[in-house]
Amino acid sequence: MKVFQSSAAQMRLVGGQLSLDFVNTVDGRSSYSPRKNPAAASNVLRDKLRNYSDLVGWGQHAGIITALEARSLIREGKRKAAEAAKVFERAIALREALYRIFKARLTDGTPRSVDLDTVNDELQRARSHKRLTRAGDGFTWEWIGPATALDRMLWSIAHSGAEYLTAGDLSRLRECGGEECGWLFEDTSKNRSRQWCHMQDCGNLEKVRRFRARQRRGSNK
Ligand SMILES: [Zn+2]
Repeated sequence: MKVFQSSAAQMRLVGGQLSLDFVNTVDGRSSYSPRKNPAAASNVLRDKLRNYSDLVGWGQHAGIITALEARSLIREGKRKAAEAAKVFERAIALREALYRIFKARLTDGTPRSVDLDTVNDELQRARSHKRLTRAGDGFTWEWIGPATALDRMLWSIAHSGAEYLTAGDLSRLRECGGEECGWLFEDTSKNRSRQWCHMQDCGNLEKVRRFRARQRRGSNK
């Protein structure tokens, strides 16, 4: 059972990669230009993560922590509010660094080394909690550490982001074509033709927009 009602805990997970779903906790990136209008960020960007509880809620929603773990993290976060606030800051820094790295890949740009440093810092913390373990006939990684380690969601996110960057097919990385969206996803369609984060959201909005534009042109004749 989900214990959270925040929008982060209810959003669509359509990125195809944990790190992309995490980056997608912000809406409106495609209509926001930090260079052109930095002051407009609060009007244009809609961040689903507002505090540590939202981060925990998203972590449970994304399946990287259990409901039981989420409940104990919330309790611990309330007990150690200053520490939880720092973990939240780290989470946002990691998210934005990942976003800029992915975006650089999409635009054939060069990722900034400061962003790689941020991911590497989190990766290093994550590695100290990673252990090889048996799983059936094979092996798998598991995360070890106290259930109340406030940053345990970040281990999975940093690890997943690095795995995707090193071993994923980045030629399939896409940005949603929705006018006010900016979500990223992995296009796993056979003919590499996926345009939208989700057809029912951005795909339909675009259809309506095109229809209205056609109607306007028609009525101006
Ligand atoms: Zn979209």
